[in-house]
Amino acid sequence: MHADIPAPSHPGHVAFVGAGPGDPDLLTIRALRALESADVVIHDRLVTPEILGLVNRNAVLIDAGKEGFGPSAAQTDINALIVQHARSGAQVVRLKGGDPTVFGRLDEEIDAVDAAGLGWHVVPGITAASASVAAIGQSLTKRGRNAAVRFLTGHDMKGFADHDWRTLARPGEVAAIYMGKKSARFIQGRLIMHGADRATPVTVIENASRPDQRILATTLDRLPADLARANVTGPALTFLGLAPRAAEAQLAHSRQELA
Ligand code: SAH
Repeated sequence: MHADIPAPSHPGHVAFVGAGPGDPDLLTIRALRALESADVVIHDRLVTPEILGLVNRNAVLIDAGKEGFGPSAAQTDINALIVQHARSGAQVVRLKGGDPTVFGRLDEEIDAVDAAGLGWHVVPGITAASASVAAIGQSLTKRGRNAAVRFLTGHDMKGFADHDWRTLARPGEVAAIYMGKKSARFIQGRLIMHGADRATPVTVIENASRPDQRILATTLDRLPADLARANVTGPALTFLGLAPRAAEAQLAHSRQELA
């Protein structure tokens, strides 16, 4: 800090806040309070305009949006931005889509804030998997079907992400695949190679909880083709091993008719 700039009278602080899946009704009250009292809000691309509209009018709003494989604000620049504002004494809200602890690069930002000797806390949010499973009337876990659920990313820093395909290919497995649009064909190929049933239900939920929410019910076999046809442009979550409840009922019904 420059010698003749006085230190801020009150210390800055960073709240890492989950914005939920998009519907402002799915914000926590604590998240809403943080937006109402922030001096600076640094947000992701995933945060909807309806939620940004709840930020107090005097706050500085900064878009640190990042695209999957595309051009992105470097993480180090975002870290520096957060630290710079908090150092000047601001109450900073780092607003992330869904829950900040799920595929949110939270740790890198906490490390930067920690290294600067600044205080921080995390406000959880509703993650896309929770909003998406609610949209199809299913549970993430179900007695007799799956006693575990996995949250996977379709791609990571090195490209398509590798997973325990053999386990995922077993009947009854349920996985919520984040950032899975571009990797749909890769995931399909790996699962089938490891023995997955081609008829395994797969459901893609685009824009979960938002007015433009869409549900695509398909199978592992048809996933890449159906995804391409549906022209999914919004954020989308892919459930491996789950069909929408109504479709499941219909399926059981037609099986009965066939029997
Ligand atoms: N922290 C976020 C996830 C960030 S990774 C969370 O907890 O939800 C970004 C991915 O999240 C997207 O590529 C998409 O797979 C998923 N996602 C986020 N919001 C979504 C929404 N409203 N509907 C469907 N998927 C969503």
